[in-house]
Order: sequence, then structure tokens, then C-alpha cells
Amino acid sequence: MKKIRCPVCGRMFDPETTEAMPFCSRRCRIIDLGRWLGEQYAIPHVEKDEEDEDSETPRLSDHESPEDYY
Ligand SMILES: [Zn+2]
Repeated sequence: MKKIRCPVCGRMFDPETTEAMPFCSRRCRIIDLGRWLGEQYAIPHVEKDEEDEDSETPRLSDHESPEDYY
């Protein structure tokens, strides 16, 4: 009988004995859902802000960019 690993509790279980695939139980499925929703709030996206900050650094060039004359 093939067994799979529950992504929540890490326990090996028989897929045919569960009613909450791919989790070993309904409880693990609920835990996984709550964990996923929690990460939405816990991890804000800050990578893009770092790129913007870099583009705002003053340039030492004497030339204005062509766009400034339009
Ligand atoms: Zn589990």
C-alpha cells in the first residue's frame, strides 16, 4: 500500500484512509489553511521598495535626461 506524507504534521499515512487529501486528517487541512492565510499578513512584499529606493539615488552626471525637456 502506497503511503504519502502529510505536509502539515509530517506523518506518513495511507491516502485511502483519509477524507481530507492531501492531509492525513481534516484537522491538518484546517491547520494548513489557517497557516496559509496567516502568511498573507505576516510577509509583506518589500522587495520592490528596495528597487525604487535604489533608482532614487542622486546621479552625479551634469546632463539632464532627454525626458526632462519634453
Ligand atoms: Zn497531518
